[in-house]
Amino acid sequence: MKKGNIGVTTENIFPIIKKFLYSDHEIFLRELVSNAVDASQKLKTLASIGEFKGELGDLTVQVKLDKENKTITISDRGIGLTAEEVDKYINQIAFSGANDFLDKYKDDANAIIGHFGLGFYSAFMVANQVDIISKSHKDGAKAVKWSCDGSPEYTLEEAEKADRGTDIVLHVDTESEEFLDESRISTLLHKYCSFLPIPVAFGHKKEWKEGKEVETEELNVINDTEPLWTRTPSDLKDEDYIAFYKKLYPMSDEPLFWIHLNVDYPFNLTGILYFPKIKSNIDLSKNKIQLYSNQVFVTDSVEGIVPDFLTLLHGVIDSPDIPLNVSRSYLQSDSNVKKISSHITKKVSDRLQSIFKTDRKDFESKWNDIKLFINYGMLTQEDFFNRAKKYSLFCDTDEKYYTFEEYQTLVKENQTDKNGNLIYLYATNKDEQYSFIEAAQNKGYNVLVLDGQLDVALINLLEQKFEKTSFSRVDADVIDNLIVKEEQIQTALEAKEVDALTATFKSQLPAMEKVEFHVMIQSMGENSAPLVITQSEYMRRMKEMASIQAGMGFYGEMPNMFNVVLNSDHELVKTVLEETEKSCEAEVAPIQTELSIAEARKAELKKDQEGKKDEEIPTAQKDELKDLDDKLNELKGKKDLVYATHAGSNKVVRQLIDLALLQNNMLKGQALNDFVKRSIDLI
Ligand code: ADP
Repeated sequence: MKKGNIGVTTENIFPIIKKFLYSDHEIFLRELVSNAVDASQKLKTLASIGEFKGELGDLTVQVKLDKENKTITISDRGIGLTAEEVDKYINQIAFSGANDFLDKYKDDANAIIGHFGLGFYSAFMVANQVDIISKSHKDGAKAVKWSCDGSPEYTLEEAEKADRGTDIVLHVDTESEEFLDESRISTLLHKYCSFLPIPVAFGHKKEWKEGKEVETEELNVINDTEPLWTRTPSDLKDEDYIAFYKKLYPMSDEPLFWIHLNVDYPFNLTGILYFPKIKSNIDLSKNKIQLYSNQVFVTDSVEGIVPDFLTLLHGVIDSPDIPLNVSRSYLQSDSNVKKISSHITKKVSDRLQSIFKTDRKDFESKWNDIKLFINYGMLTQEDFFNRAKKYSLFCDTDEKYYTFEEYQTLVKENQTDKNGNLIYLYATNKDEQYSFIEAAQNKGYNVLVLDGQLDVALINLLEQKFEKTSFSRVDADVIDNLIVKEEQIQTALEAKEVDALTATFKSQLPAMEKVEFHVMIQSMGENSAPLVITQSEYMRRMKEMASIQAGMGFYGEMPNMFNVVLNSDHELVKTVLEETEKSCEAEVAPIQTELSIAEARKAELKKDQEGKKDEEIPTAQKDELKDLDDKLNELKGKKDLVYATHAGSNKVVRQLIDLALLQNNMLKGQALNDFVKRSIDLI
């Protein structure tokens, strides 16, 4: 025996079938019913070309369950088999076919597990004996009975069978008795056989008579032999598509629109893809596309066959050209599958573009429902991005829609900064960022609403795709800093005034978990707000990315950093400064004197040490410098305490801070309560 070879011979084929196909035992029914359907279709074909001259009659395939005898029988009225054919197709071909199959995928157990079975022989996954009773359609054919208990030995004898066609009788083994349950078989038939092209019946229809359920004469046909995707699109109406959708997904809302796929060259593909209403939670909507091969259900996991973003769509794809009995990794590298995948992507994009072109209003009204899907596609597929950029929309705070190009034209003139960078302003919450939006609008700027699940990621992508363009959330900084038009007027305050204001406000900032504040002073004009709290675009975006993308956990752990920007031009800030200086002057002045002396001495020492190596500096000097640093820290602490004590009694400081916090939706609980009380006092 060779290494790496699972060594299949006809002697041990059955244990291997059982073992490798263990996870998917149920497919035996799909295999046998499709064989029956194939045999019936072959007879139809023969009849249509005049090679079969008898009556076709009713070709319904019947599945019957006999609990007492523990059998499942699949009967057809198709071409049937002669004794020679049984020998050729069942005894020889199928055995060697199974050998080939196992040989081909011997290194890839996954390809064997969970995918197409071995046709007829999959019957042995659930049965310890299988009988074929068949009568060929050929004139004068004699009925035959083939019987096999799973060992390589079989019997073949003449039999009695009135009607043309084949009965496959499965003697269900003890481990598989679950398949003797009527509802189990019914579920499986619905799953795999719902759209087979020949009627398939499971028992008879039942009805209620005198309080009892009784069988009627009518066969219980479970399938629709002409599913919508096999029909000509021009014959179909919207209602037909919607009704079919409802049949596939009884629990879903109506679809937004659909695409009827119909290709016969260079590969064969039919299907209908529906755009569902999706607003959030990507994963929930996945695995809704059903894959068929000639109307036989294969799988509802189409990953690897269609691009990931298309798995958000619903519907059916039917293609005999998708190789099914192979592993997923093989599938992804298959050239036919690649062609099919890019064809579907193109079709989907064409359809979106055509709706956009022919009925823009309609497209805009559906935008919120399809946006997530389109964004997902743009983020994951370069070619889809290039198509979708023509009809992908931005929505602004006035709920006006623009294409990327239209929007650029709209804001280019007014929102380009002094370095020639175009700044797109956006809000993620119109209510929470109201004051910032208003500040931007007062400058004549436009603000986009980017509140989608994938918008942070999309912004990052668009910044790479658009030239000299960056996105800034309206509250990332004060508006003049977001779009810098000319050199900033720095604050005209002196260093000690800056110190006083900074210490005063810093001392009154609330302590919050995982939040850090940084106080800054800027000249923003007397009509702008006295105090604004902003959050840097970069850090915020990194943190948001961290929450949707693996490997960025580091950012997620960082505190939220906010800037508290004081407007030194505002009357209230000026007053706070004046009052602070007035009431702290006496206490601060002596500390300040000491500070100045210590600072001067420190500078002197530093100068002396310049260019000297560590070992050349006398220990006494090192000690003095250390003492000076300690002293400076202590003095600064003392000075800050003076400001803090004063600030604590200045209601305006706290009030200004709270108002800004309130605007950022950051004032909660007791702090909010205190604010309300203080406001009442102030009134
Ligand atoms: P496959 O269907 O892939 O060829 P199977 O093992 O399922 O492989 O079947 C082997 C062959 O046996 C078929 O190709 C067909 O010729 C014959 N066969 C199976 N089932 C039937 C049936 N119900 N009626 C007539 N012929 C059948």
